[in-house]
Amino acid sequence: MSDRAPPPRPSRPPPSEGSTPRGVVLKGIAGSPGVAVGHALVVGDTKAAYTRRHVAPNQVEAEVLRLERAVDDARQHVREVAAKLPVAPLETNAILDAYLTMIGDPMLLDRVTVKIRDERKCAEWAVAQACDEIGKMFSPADISERDAYIAERRHDVEFVRDRLLRELTGDTKQLVPRLDQPMVVVARDLSPADTAAMVREPVIAFVTEIGSRTSHTSIMARALEIPAVVGTGEALSVIRTGDIVVVDGLRGEVVVNPNDITVEEARGRGARHLAFARGLLSARNQPCVTLDGESVTLKANVELPAEAILALDHGAEGIGLYRTEFIYIDRSTMPSEQEQYELYRAVVEAVAPRPVTLRTFDIGGDKFASSFQLPAEMNPALGLRAVRLALSRPEVFLTQLRAMIRASAHGELRIMVPMIASVHELREVRILLARALADVDAAGHARARHIPLGIMIEVPSAVIMADVLAREAEFFSIGTNDLVQYTLAIDRGNRSLAPLASPFNPAILRMIRQVVRAAATHSVPVALCGAMASDPLAAVLLVGLGVRELSMEAAAIPEIKEAVRRVTLADCEATAEAALALDTAEAVEELVAGTFAPGLFDLLAGTSEGGTYGAPTDSERHLATPTTERE
Ligand code: PEP
Ligand code: MG
Repeated sequence: MSDRAPPPRPSRPPPSEGSTPRGVVLKGIAGSPGVAVGHALVVGDTKAAYTRRHVAPNQVEAEVLRLERAVDDARQHVREVAAKLPVAPLETNAILDAYLTMIGDPMLLDRVTVKIRDERKCAEWAVAQACDEIGKMFSPADISERDAYIAERRHDVEFVRDRLLRELTGDTKQLVPRLDQPMVVVARDLSPADTAAMVREPVIAFVTEIGSRTSHTSIMARALEIPAVVGTGEALSVIRTGDIVVVDGLRGEVVVNPNDITVEEARGRGARHLAFARGLLSARNQPCVTLDGESVTLKANVELPAEAILALDHGAEGIGLYRTEFIYIDRSTMPSEQEQYELYRAVVEAVAPRPVTLRTFDIGGDKFASSFQLPAEMNPALGLRAVRLALSRPEVFLTQLRAMIRASAHGELRIMVPMIASVHELREVRILLARALADVDAAGHARARHIPLGIMIEVPSAVIMADVLAREAEFFSIGTNDLVQYTLAIDRGNRSLAPLASPFNPAILRMIRQVVRAAATHSVPVALCGAMASDPLAAVLLVGLGVRELSMEAAAIPEIKEAVRRVTLADCEATAEAALALDTAEAVEELVAGTFAPGLFDLLAGTSEGGTYGAPTDSERHLATPTTERE
């Protein structure tokens, strides 16, 4: 039985049948900044076709050999792509390395081999089935809506499946043919190797139907400085090969067959962005100090180890939040202490002498990991999540703590615990940390003499008890993504309620003020690492509320630094005071914008021009709905 016919791959793409009406606007997610205008090349569904057949007993070993050869060839393909990159940014190589590891993952290959040997399935069938099973293990039905990051890891398995099938079937032609003119590639999704391979072609932008800001396509496109709009939903049914498209990686939108005015505007915006971004980046190592001399520390939030390098490139003074969840995703077995130690050590060494805050795993809720095999819950956001899960699986938690402790021998490291809701939980963590320290010492490993233990403040009870928690935690980091969710009772993944989930809500501002005051009384440093920190207007308001450390997506750091450098602490404090007295989020936003927007106009308009780049929020994960262009 054949899956699906492979898409035609002409050497020079002919225009597709029919034409798209003028000026259709597709909304997506701004994956990589910049604006490009060019002809579209729709690469269609890239799934490899294969035939399902049983093999005779005497052919089984030959089939296993075919599999092994396909794995070698697939890995060789990725190495060749990496070798041909003109200037390979470090993070690009790291992503391709991870892809190489996944292709040779023993867990996957064992599963495939069992299917060939025991079920006598041909290698193609066995690969497809094994990958589909692994994909399902960490893919509850609605996960793509709830957590783009996890959905992305599922796509990685699909890319591996596709690559191995291509090697097995001999269908190894390039996804994008050699082009003789600059084109915009439009696809359902692109694997890291596909994305990297296109750098040699005159590809000027990417548009993908699925993906998020943390998807590999976005990270690679940012590293390679190619504009990208991802998560457009229905690009393949709207855009035809040969259509002219404007890809606006600042606003997160694609205009199909635009009018001349739109094209002219887009070109102007692209040129202004380039000049602006170069200016900001060149100032990345300037101190982050207000006009009246108050210092604010800017750090980066990191999910993939490769992003640590990107963070330094953008002027991060350290890693304020290293989300370790990804280590537990895409696998059925727990990561070992040694494996985790090596990962943490790599990040700590890459960032040294700057500090790194490693957050213990925040699995559960909307962050699903197959390795934990969690029970289904009626209300996972209020269920066995984060520190609760850690305390219920002490062996898993201790393994992570030991790995973190060992990594502390290589640089400045702090350990942070997510979702602390009571002092009791923090005490329980301290007991386990003491045990992990003793284990590390008994095993004779090196470590820092003292490793600060801090907590995320992201549950309302932690805000109310902040003065008590401050006696026992060595630092706080306010997680506004969850604090907004739990305070306003709005699911952070619910797109239709996203406009109500504003961090400018006075309830949230009062909570931040309360935490800052409690922390100050006990001399506990307080940072803020929710997406709020990457919005220039919110950032200056936070400075006014007393927050002196902000941690955010690396790409936002240059803008936020520039924003801080243009305001005075006195203005920030006066505005924060006035904001605390207001009664609605809208009134707060109006006040803050009225005070600071004139001075930050180019930061609010120049990079994003009303768009979304640089200030990611859950509310940006909106569904694509085609509209028509503005006249
Ligand atoms: C937060 O909740 O604000 C936060 C930074 O953590 P996460 O987004 O990983 O839940
Ligand atoms: Mg959180």
